[in-house]
Amino acid sequence: MFESVQEARTLFERLGLPQEAIASGDLASRSPIDGTVIGRVAAASPDEVEAAIGRAYEGFLAWRTVPAPRRGELVRLFGEVLREAKEPLARLVSLEAGKILPEALGEVQEMIDICDFAVGLSRQLHGLTITTERPDHRMMETWHPLGVVGVISAFNFPVAVWAWNACLAFVCGDSVVWKPSEKTPLSALAVQTLFERAVERFGDAPANLSVLVQGGRATGEALVDDRRVALVSATGSTRMGCEVGPRIAARFGRSLLELGGNNGMIVTPSADLDLAERAITFAAVGTAGQRCTSLRRLFVHEDVYDRLVPRLKRVWSSVEVGNPLEGLALVGPLIDEAAYDAMQTALNDARSEGGVVQGGERLLADSFPDAWYVRPAIAEMPGQTPVTQRETFAPILYVMRYRTFDEAIALHNAVPQGLASSIFTTDLREAERFLSAAGSDCGIVNVNIGPSGAEIGGAFGGEKETGGGRESGSDSWRAYMRRSTNTINYGRDLPLAQGIDFSV
Ligand code: NAD
Repeated sequence: MFESVQEARTLFERLGLPQEAIASGDLASRSPIDGTVIGRVAAASPDEVEAAIGRAYEGFLAWRTVPAPRRGELVRLFGEVLREAKEPLARLVSLEAGKILPEALGEVQEMIDICDFAVGLSRQLHGLTITTERPDHRMMETWHPLGVVGVISAFNFPVAVWAWNACLAFVCGDSVVWKPSEKTPLSALAVQTLFERAVERFGDAPANLSVLVQGGRATGEALVDDRRVALVSATGSTRMGCEVGPRIAARFGRSLLELGGNNGMIVTPSADLDLAERAITFAAVGTAGQRCTSLRRLFVHEDVYDRLVPRLKRVWSSVEVGNPLEGLALVGPLIDEAAYDAMQTALNDARSEGGVVQGGERLLADSFPDAWYVRPAIAEMPGQTPVTQRETFAPILYVMRYRTFDEAIALHNAVPQGLASSIFTTDLREAERFLSAAGSDCGIVNVNIGPSGAEIGGAFGGEKETGGGRESGSDSWRAYMRRSTNTINYGRDLPLAQGIDFSV
């Protein structure tokens, strides 16, 4: 019989973390696998957050003058530590967030990947040189470390989101204060301890480059309001973003918002339906529909609807749901009862808006009375009704028919969120139109793969209510640095820009 408390203890031992670290405190961590409390940590009070930011600021002052490739060495060592700890850390993520082990291993692999990316980046933090209008002058841009970066993260990617931010921040010369989700404090504690192991191996890093503050909304708010936090990178619901965005703006801080998605896919008549079926399944039921990039809205051309949708319904009724750490389950539990209630509310709304729903019922209640397993749901909708326009963080796929490609694109874009999107087609014109300025309005636009499961090399994020932030690859690093524009005069005269004559 699966014993989640014992599993947590074993994992803490394997990760080399003291058992006392999870023995007491007002913040309880519950495993969604069986609903049991598997550990407790202390929540930081606003005063403790203040002190933590002060320590991180001291860390930043020392770190910002360390050459960037040397900073990269610390991240390289962290990548090594993560490789050694990959399996137990992934198991802890499964235990605390409920995702199946292969996906949790993928999440830790993502941390390792961003370490590699950041190490390379540490030798490429480049600015431009720019031609000037004045003789014997030179103009250039220099990128400097920014300051303390506050990271607020969501439960569903309890370790990778921090790494996306922190590994870039560290090579950019910043320090980090992390407020993880109150639902996944143990995974955060484990990551912080592994990072400290890398700091030890590094030898001469300043103290407090990475500071962890545990807690809920109040802890996050203390971080958001502190003027010493130069950038707040906040990942979570659009509701949270609506609260934190204006507060940060009011103090002229920088924010990087990664908020909710309501991701769509268009399946056109020329699509490879075998490929589409697999992609739809992973994107809609993987992580029990609890990815920001999960597929929620599927637009199927009327010519292929009756071939594709019955196949999906068969998969939905047979997909293995169960303990994410045991057996062959592809779908683990929802994070908690509130998530289950939200799913039932959405399904009731879908029915009352004319939808026909398959699935959605609770499973395994006998074996796990305090956990919330569900059969993934498919709702065939008469159109893009109100329920389909909001994000419900659960495995519900709303399926709609379309006739013309213009109609499909218009429907696809007619929601408040703008994170991830995809099209299945073998028609080059359709693919290119979807990718064009007149196509998908999302931050992530894919062809013949699903909307979820991004690689770290690209910039990650979305438009509209998704918040507009970009993190991870490409040039996202610029958000973690400040730019200075330099003009240097190496001549013997002082010509003014725009030819202004100011002779004295
Ligand atoms: P949530 O909004 O409930 O919480 C996210 C984090 O914000 C938590 O750490 C929470 O304590 C904190 N928080 C909440 N209110 C706050 C406030 N007023 N001030 C400061 N901090 C506050 O989200 P969740 O349930 O943990 O995660 C699910 C949501 O996250 C979904 O909407 C999902 O789409 C989104 N998400 C987005 C991305 C992305 O990259 N766009 C990635 C993962 C998750």
